[in-house]
Amino acid sequence: MSDLLASDRLPGFVQACYIIAAILFIAALAGLSKHTSAKSGNVAGMLGMALALVATILLAARQASLPDPGDDWRSLPVTIGLIAVAMTIGAVIGLRRAKTVEMTGMPELVAILHSFVGIAAVLVGFNSFLDPGELSGALERIHSVEVFIGVFIGAVTFTGSIVAFLKLSAKMKSAPMMLPGRHLPNLAILVASAALMGWFVTDHGELAGGVERALIPLVLMTTLALVLGFHLVAAIGGGDMPVVVSMLNSYSGWAAAAAGFMLSNDLLIITGSLVGSSGAILSYIMCKAMNRSFISVIAGGFGSDGAVTGEVRDYGEHREIGAAETAELLADARSVVITPGYGMAVAQAQYPVAELTAKLRAKGVNVRFGIHPVAGRLPGHMNVLLAEARVPYDIVLEMDEINDDFDETDVVLVIGANDTVNPAALDEPGSPIAGMPVLEVWRARDVVVFKRSMATGYAGVQNPLFFKDNSRMLFGDAKDRVEDIVRALP
Ligand code: NDP
Repeated sequence: MSDLLASDRLPGFVQACYIIAAILFIAALAGLSKHTSAKSGNVAGMLGMALALVATILLAARQASLPDPGDDWRSLPVTIGLIAVAMTIGAVIGLRRAKTVEMTGMPELVAILHSFVGIAAVLVGFNSFLDPGELSGALERIHSVEVFIGVFIGAVTFTGSIVAFLKLSAKMKSAPMMLPGRHLPNLAILVASAALMGWFVTDHGELAGGVERALIPLVLMTTLALVLGFHLVAAIGGGDMPVVVSMLNSYSGWAAAAAGFMLSNDLLIITGSLVGSSGAILSYIMCKAMNRSFISVIAGGFGSDGAVTGEVRDYGEHREIGAAETAELLADARSVVITPGYGMAVAQAQYPVAELTAKLRAKGVNVRFGIHPVAGRLPGHMNVLLAEARVPYDIVLEMDEINDDFDETDVVLVIGANDTVNPAALDEPGSPIAGMPVLEVWRARDVVVFKRSMATGYAGVQNPLFFKDNSRMLFGDAKDRVEDIVRALP
């Protein structure tokens, strides 16, 4: 073992592993972009990560085994022991969470995992500042800039992700936080951070006790960046959270890439950049789907001034329908569109929905699904559930592909969706979801809405769809009601 670690060929071998791992990560992203190849994409990602871990542990073991008098706590057994303890704790917590997390809890889990990447970048930055190794001249200045930017991105990601976690798990109000001056505090923090970077890079003095004085601007900037991350996400309203989640995903990637620069680890730079850029592309796609400006998302707020009317309107009376009557409607229909939302995930109704779909298709009914890009609580949430229940991919259509067909649709089943089918987004300029494109289900002949009560959706706004003449409410748990319909279908 010691011969292997001391071998001059080991660094080259590790680099080769890193290149193969990077290719596997790219293959993973390519695979995950289509339903049919998603499984193999996941396998490629896992193989890449396993290879990266083995190579990195070998590299750490080699560094620890090199003679370094005066630094004996870093001996080989201590290094391997520390890595093993950290990996075991992480693996136990990770396995436990992965086994217990509900599909509806995934967004919160993803948000809190992003916060770990953020805090890791901050810690790596401070460690890199306190123990920079042998650097001088231009290299030292470049390293200082890397540390400063890495800590900045990490701190913003850390608090931003914690606020996202709190909002997604309903532990914090989803309404946007409105501070006086709205975007001015963010701008002031950016300007102050730029000035602190100048101080950090140029100050080579020492404080009492031999600590470098540059620690002061680093600590000040970290505090400001933590506040910035909090405010950027707190200022964003509930219905716009999907874009924030994908944006924080992107930030966590850049934080990892910054950590890669600080640690001179090429694979971390590549992996972080892949996550950062794919998160940014996803944010852009989500912004387009939500009809929001990309720049205004990055600036921590949407629309002009974030003002909403909060007006409570009287939309009249709603009408109800039973499962048996819905089964009759469906039996007589030629075309049916199902628009699922978060409630289908909560009820785990995808299996009876798939059974209902198969039964109707067997009777010659044209059944299709209309998926809103932000339905549920995760990008692609509904697609995952429907794929799990083996609904054929070719009848699962995007919002843009189905919206023009509602005029010719006999029956729409709105299963646990609310904000994504809310006409107020188009008709009421003061609404918090104003401007967001929605599935225009009300244009169909009949609409049946599956939900448990008249409660609002995630954005907290009432839905005029429920009061339209061609809409009827089918109250109860979506899974139970769909099962009732399957039983009642002739
Ligand atoms: P909504 O969250 O707007 O509404 C879901 C509806 O499902 C509720 O009105 C609820 O009504 C109903 N429901 C809940 N449980 C059940 C159940 N067991 N059976 C039947 N109905 C149930 O859903 P949408 O999918 O339409 O919209 C998603 C919202 O989430 C959007 O505002 C989006 O911006 C936001 N969001 C999306 C993210 C993403 O990436 N996709 C991430 C973060 C937020 P009731 O309680 O009366 O049953």
